[in-house]
Amino acid sequence: MKPHLQALLTLQDRDDELSQLETRMDALKPRFAALDAERVAAERQRSTTRAAIEREEQRQRELSSRADDFRRLNARAIAAMDHVHKVREANAASAQVDISRRALADVENELSAVNHRLSTLRDSDTAAELNLAELDERQAAVRQELEAARGKLEAEIGEARGRRQEAARHVDPRTLQRYDRVRSRRRQRSVFALRGTSCSNCDTAVPTQRRAALASGDLVDVCESCGVLLYAES
Ligand SMILES: [Zn+2]
Repeated sequence: MKPHLQALLTLQDRDDELSQLETRMDALKPRFAALDAERVAAERQRSTTRAAIEREEQRQRELSSRADDFRRLNARAIAAMDHVHKVREANAASAQVDISRRALADVENELSAVNHRLSTLRDSDTAAELNLAELDERQAAVRQELEAARGKLEAEIGEARGRRQEAARHVDPRTLQRYDRVRSRRRQRSVFALRGTSCSNCDTAVPTQRRAALASGDLVDVCESCGVLLYAES
C-alpha cells in the first residue's frame, strides 16, 4: 500500500478511536443529568411542603388572634350581664354572649383543623428532609463513580487527540483538507476502498475514468453518490 494512503487510513483509525471515546463521554451526560433531575425533584417536594407550612402557620397566627378577640368579647358580654336591670337589656346582653361564644367556637374549630394540617405537613417535611439526605448519600457513590469515569475519559480523549494530530501530520495538506471536510460532515468512517468497480460504502458504480485516475495516481476521489472518499487498493 502507498505510504500516503496508509497515512490517511491511520488518521481515520485515530479519528475512529477519538469518536468512540467522545461517544462514551456523551453517554455520561444523561446520567449526570438524571442525578441532577432526581435531586431537583426531591428539593422541590421539600420546598413545596415548607411553603405550605408557612401558609398554615400564618393562618394559625391570624386565627389565634381572632380567637383572643372573641374570648375578650365573650368575657365582656358575660360581665355586662351582671349590670343589666331591665328584661330588654338582659335579652340583648344574653344575645351578645351567644354570638361571641358561637364565633369563638367557629374560630376554634378552624384553628383545630389548621393544627391538624400543620402536624401532617411537619411529618411530611421530616420525611422530605430524610429522603433528601438519603438521596444525597445514595447519589454520592454514583457521582463519584461517574466523575472518575469522566476524568479517565478526559485523559484518554486528550491522548487520542494527540495521536490524531500526530497522524494528521503524515497526511498531505490537500488530502487532509478533503478528508476533514468529509469527516466533519459524516461524523463517522469516511474513507472507503473501491470494491470491484463500485464504492464499497454505497455500492454505486464509479465511472471508468475516475477509477482509472485512482488506479494510476490520484490518492482519493469523492464518491459522486454518497460523498465518501474512495481509494483504489493496489
Ligand atoms: Zn459511495
